[in-house]
Amino acid sequence: MNNIFQRHCHSNLPIAVKGDGIYLYDKLGKAYLDASGGAAVSCLGHSHPDVRAALHRQIDQLAYAHTGFFNTDNALELAEKLTQAAPGNLNHVYFVSGGSEAIESALKLARQYFVEKGESQRTQFVSRKQSYHGNTLGALAVGGNELRRAPFAPLLMPTEHISACFAYHNKLESESYFDYGQRTANELETRLLEMGPDTVIAFIAEPVVGATAGAVTAEEGYFKRIREICDQYGVLLILDEVMCGMGRTGTLFAHEQEDIHADIVTIAKGLGAGYQPIGAMIATSEIHNTISQGSGFFQHGHTYMGHATAMAGSLAVLNAFEKEALLPRVQEAGDILQTRLSERFTDHPFVGDIRGRGLFRAVELIADKDTKRPFSTASNLHTQIKERAMDLGLICYPMSGTIDGKNGHHILLAPPFIISNTQIDELTEKLFESVDSVTQSLF
Ligand code: PLP
Repeated sequence: MNNIFQRHCHSNLPIAVKGDGIYLYDKLGKAYLDASGGAAVSCLGHSHPDVRAALHRQIDQLAYAHTGFFNTDNALELAEKLTQAAPGNLNHVYFVSGGSEAIESALKLARQYFVEKGESQRTQFVSRKQSYHGNTLGALAVGGNELRRAPFAPLLMPTEHISACFAYHNKLESESYFDYGQRTANELETRLLEMGPDTVIAFIAEPVVGATAGAVTAEEGYFKRIREICDQYGVLLILDEVMCGMGRTGTLFAHEQEDIHADIVTIAKGLGAGYQPIGAMIATSEIHNTISQGSGFFQHGHTYMGHATAMAGSLAVLNAFEKEALLPRVQEAGDILQTRLSERFTDHPFVGDIRGRGLFRAVELIADKDTKRPFSTASNLHTQIKERAMDLGLICYPMSGTIDGKNGHHILLAPPFIISNTQIDELTEKLFESVDSVTQSLF
């Protein structure tokens, strides 16, 4: 294969031919336990009968009808389900084809809302370091991954980035976890005051940080304080649940566990469970009504929004969550996974932290446990672990810790919600062997 656009330019990747439960199979018949659901996508495993049947039924009836001309029953039912479950006043859904499109839509909706309210001086966003919101230009601008931003920096809209809430690396010994969370949240207020709060459209954050930091939850009270600050200065709160949402942390929306309301939420990955591309943003009635009673039209749109097949598949995904009581199982299996990982890795000389929520977990690797010094990025540790794990028949999601030069490499785990306890053991053993053999070989 000579495809320079293949991820990381690898030409020798195995050829995937089959998925069954939580396993993927390559052309040679080798099985891989999918411990990361790809990139936290395949929450129902790879062969869910109800989703497959729903997709077959839909494609036999109708593959595509442009949303400028038609609604579909599935789209209406899916929107109803999402808005019924969403906390607060999130009553209006806008379906797109993936996470970055959802983010672009959210940023533009937030801006148009203020234009229609007569506050067009609001032109800036605030987000966090150690965040990832997608690879399109708007999403990249608000994201905090320096490596991904670097080549495109001159093209990105100016965005202010405050610190992430990441206690393992940044909490002072003298402060409590609560105080650390408040201190980090208060950075938003300080930054808004520096910028002029009435120039800011929105603050955007992942309730549980995924790719760039590795399943990092905020301290208790952090998001409540963020909400207070946003309310005080009339700034919208956009929560990016593209990775952590749709049951991944044990509740349909991750921010349910923060006990706050968002103005706009973005979702994607788990919504389609990998059966077809889909994303969505959900906005409050206040935002929707301001635009519908103003210009009457959100100046945005994509050809494949509300795609009929995607709607059918995603509706079947949400129905499977309910029918199989999967969200309580995510909480239970997540606790078991955390326990197994702790048993196996706590004494490992290069494992600094084991964390996460539900079936969204990470193991952080550091070169020195006392100082929390990370491995050099030149060690290419994440690639080596990924390759060793693939050799052993395990798919995990290792990332290099390059943000702020501070956090270490981490391995993100986001297995399908249907994972059994025996499979959690298999995952843990294979992960241990991958991490141990690669870190030993460094010395
Ligand atoms: N937001 C978050 C939190 C993500 O993790 C991702 C992808 O990993 C995105 C947005 C972008 O989604 P997509 O890759 O579907 O464009």
